[in-house]
Amino acid sequence: MIVVLTGGTGGAKLVDGLYRVVGDEALTCIVNTGDDFRWWGLHVSPDIDSVVYALAGMLSPERGWGVRDDTFFALETMRKLGEPDWFQVGDRDLAIHLVRTKLLKEGRTLSAATATIAEKLGVEARILPMSDSAVETRVETEAGELNFQEYFVKRRHRDPVTGVRLEGAAEARPAPGVVEAIRSAQAIVLAPSNPITSIGPILAVPGIRAALRETAAGVIAVSPMVGDRAFSGPAADLMAMQGLPVSIAGVAKAYEDFLDVLIVDSCDADAARGLERQGIEVHCENILLRTNEDKIRLARVVLAQISRLDGEEAKAS
Ligand code: GDP
Repeated sequence: MIVVLTGGTGGAKLVDGLYRVVGDEALTCIVNTGDDFRWWGLHVSPDIDSVVYALAGMLSPERGWGVRDDTFFALETMRKLGEPDWFQVGDRDLAIHLVRTKLLKEGRTLSAATATIAEKLGVEARILPMSDSAVETRVETEAGELNFQEYFVKRRHRDPVTGVRLEGAAEARPAPGVVEAIRSAQAIVLAPSNPITSIGPILAVPGIRAALRETAAGVIAVSPMVGDRAFSGPAADLMAMQGLPVSIAGVAKAYEDFLDVLIVDSCDADAARGLERQGIEVHCENILLRTNEDKIRLARVVLAQISRLDGEEAKAS
């Protein structure tokens, strides 16, 4: 079993590639829920949705979020009714939020609701929220403290960030199966997701980071950074704010206590040599995930690293 820790848009691209190469039965995804929020009275889990849509073959390839070929009639009508419209929910997407909210209202946990939705959409991979308890990523900015979606979508991450607070994380428990999956995995893959606001909340749930340190499985991360910038989004600013180097060195530092191999872009070969001198194993590749071919190619690179680590372990034992 390959266990992937992932956020939304960046992570879903690698999950998509792994799915295309190994199929979904072999995958368990542990997904960030710090971005979850209420929208039009509904429980929206943007990162879970991205992963579900990727695995169900429903993810919009153009947008990288939401459902392919979706329409936006409900959004148009909500706008007419004077409701907020800055978070784009498509009509097919809306159906998922309605069902999730219904299941939660009936007393199901987020894990159970996610499993039901994934199953109905034909997904065989296990998709586990990091926790069934509410953890909310709050972004402290010069414009005040914002919910992650307000910061990221509504205000297009333009506000200088002074801090990130993971409300509820200290009291949260890993969702059922999360720690067991990490302990019994053949390999763990950290998707190229934002280290602060996508992987950070997962690691902040008590017990998950310790399980990653203790697992016998190899841990491989794919960098969301190339040179001194992120492929997309605010990862660079957020890493700087947390005092991390804004480069692959920062990614390595964020995961240093459990990481075995970091896969970085070939442009970062010089920085990679620097990290290797510090004892971190780094593998250079093209890590741009634009087309399906890119996703498949990078998934194969990840799988080759998993086989290599397995081979080394077999030799050692
Ligand atoms: P979200 O922020 O919740 O949508 O989800 P993620 O954290 O999973 O996705 C954003 C991260 O994905 C950013 O830090 C990007 O740098 C990274 N990313 C986006 N596109 C690519 C890509 O083509 N290749 C790699 N390696 N990373 C990417």
